[in-house]
Amino acid sequence: MSKEEDEMATRRKALTDIVKGAGYLALGGLTWGGYVKEAKATEFALRPPGALPEKDFVKACIKCGLCVEHCPYDTLLLSEHGDKKVIGTPYFDARTIPCYMCVDIPCVPVCPTGALDVMSLTSIDEETQEEKLDINMSKMGVAVVDPDNCVAFWGIQCDVCYRACPLMDEAISLVYEKNERTGKHAFLKPEVHREICTGCGLCEKACITEEASIIVLPHEIVTGKVGAHYIKGWDKNDENRLRKEKELEKKGDEMKSTLDYLNNTDDLFNEE
Ligand code: SF4
Ligand code: SF4
Repeated sequence: MSKEEDEMATRRKALTDIVKGAGYLALGGLTWGGYVKEAKATEFALRPPGALPEKDFVKACIKCGLCVEHCPYDTLLLSEHGDKKVIGTPYFDARTIPCYMCVDIPCVPVCPTGALDVMSLTSIDEETQEEKLDINMSKMGVAVVDPDNCVAFWGIQCDVCYRACPLMDEAISLVYEKNERTGKHAFLKPEVHREICTGCGLCEKACITEEASIIVLPHEIVTGKVGAHYIKGWDKNDENRLRKEKELEKKGDEMKSTLDYLNNTDDLFNEE
């Protein structure tokens, strides 16, 4: 492991420990009171849509920059010396330029190595039964809310992040809560649904506070790593995984029967 990868792993571990210590992994709606500052101080990289898990991504990416070149919004950057990320790999800073969720996802199919995995963003169209790209399947990260600084938690009306979200009412909803102290006011608090959130960062970009009160963190840090053998029947990504595994299994079976045929010497020995 290079020094930079090593540093990144250490920082990531520190953040994971913070999260686990806080016991916040069990929460559905992500509000990270007191932990957002630590998270912001931790160096991490938000990767383009379809990126493999960080460790595999860093191994697979050949730093060609094609994904960066094909992004029409200049969202993606290649990390440079001093960025505290693996040099030459693509990332984005959601507060500066988020991912605008292009329907045709031009950054992904151009990746020559599969570091950006097209299949992870492919689903079957229910009507035509054909494969189609679906940017909503991307897991670039997941947004977390800082309740200490989000003005909606102070009782001030603000729904900017909610309105900025391309999956409004699915990835972010507003939760009504009565102000028990005054008895006559109410809160409308943003709540992130991490199974749906793509981590595009449009909410972080739009947030009105001086430092964003909703930020995107890498998915594996926020959710903890679930074993790859868990399949959720209702999740499109998992459906896709199952499909891919079945295809591989089929290819494996075909290969095996060809090898069995080629290796079968019975006929040779049985020939008179
Ligand atoms: S989906 Fe579009 S905006 Fe987002 S990183 Fe890819 S090319 Fe850029
Ligand atoms: S196109 Fe693929 S290999 Fe090239 S920089 Fe982007 S992620 Fe890395």
